[in-house]
Amino acid sequence: MHCLNLKITYSCTNKCSFCFSSYLKKEQISMTNLLSAVKKGAENGCDELVLSGGEPTLEPERIIELLKLAESLNYQKYIIQTNGAGLATNHKLVAFLDSLARNKDLHISFSVHGCDSKTHDLMSRKKGAFETLMKAFYNISQSNCKIYTNTVITTVNVNQLDSIAEMLLAFKPDFMQFSMLHLETPTELSVSMSDSVRAVKRLGKKYDLKLIKTEGIPYCLLHGMECCVGESFWPNILDLYNSDNKYFSDFKQLDYGMRKKLQDCTKCIFNSICMGVWKEHYEEFCSFNIHPIC
Ligand code: SF4
Repeated sequence: MHCLNLKITYSCTNKCSFCFSSYLKKEQISMTNLLSAVKKGAENGCDELVLSGGEPTLEPERIIELLKLAESLNYQKYIIQTNGAGLATNHKLVAFLDSLARNKDLHISFSVHGCDSKTHDLMSRKKGAFETLMKAFYNISQSNCKIYTNTVITTVNVNQLDSIAEMLLAFKPDFMQFSMLHLETPTELSVSMSDSVRAVKRLGKKYDLKLIKTEGIPYCLLHGMECCVGESFWPNILDLYNSDNKYFSDFKQLDYGMRKKLQDCTKCIFNSICMGVWKEHYEEFCSFNIHPIC
């Protein structure tokens, strides 16, 4: 598919210290420009629309108007990336999404940091964030929308990924993604690649591999779990609208230096589809002395 990822606001209810958009919090995005971006996406051939932020559900009217426009332009799939804030209490928004999901592929992708309020609220730096998330999960699980989840692996939750997975399975997600923390400057939440990979592999032993996806961990580190590398399921082309009036066609993280690969990767059978590692994990990745997969 050809996807347009649209950042519709940078405001957020939570204050996750590992959020790579937080420095943009004051950035205002005009609705006129968002509508133009959706039209440009359709002209470019986009058939999938991701609404993200910030917290997109803080702008329910924007979501409704943008999705109505996208429907008129024949987009086929929608994903809303959220911490659940606006889906816990805004029944008008939930009803709209429910109705759209009757005929369209519409996924709500929830950010989940912990299996309880202690961990989730700590990482969100917002008291009550877990309770809100659970209400949103419940509302969406009663609708026609499908559920994805994303958990960023940190020092706080690395040893409870299986408890998180256990809790999430009750909501019947299509898949649960576990992602490498992506921060230019390491913080006390930064966890090594080796610890993250170990934790993900523990999940692989316990759960159906079809339910698990990763982000930021290449195939060569997930022997036996190669089918879980989330990047394999990414759209073929990604357009990005990430601050007011900045539209990137065919945005590639490798081209922008956000990701890195080894020189030897050209010999690897996964080279054409592999996105390597986040640049901040490159040094540790090199120390693994990886051999390309032949
Ligand atoms: S292309 Fe490189 S980073 Fe990707 S799986 Fe192969 S060896 Fe690993």
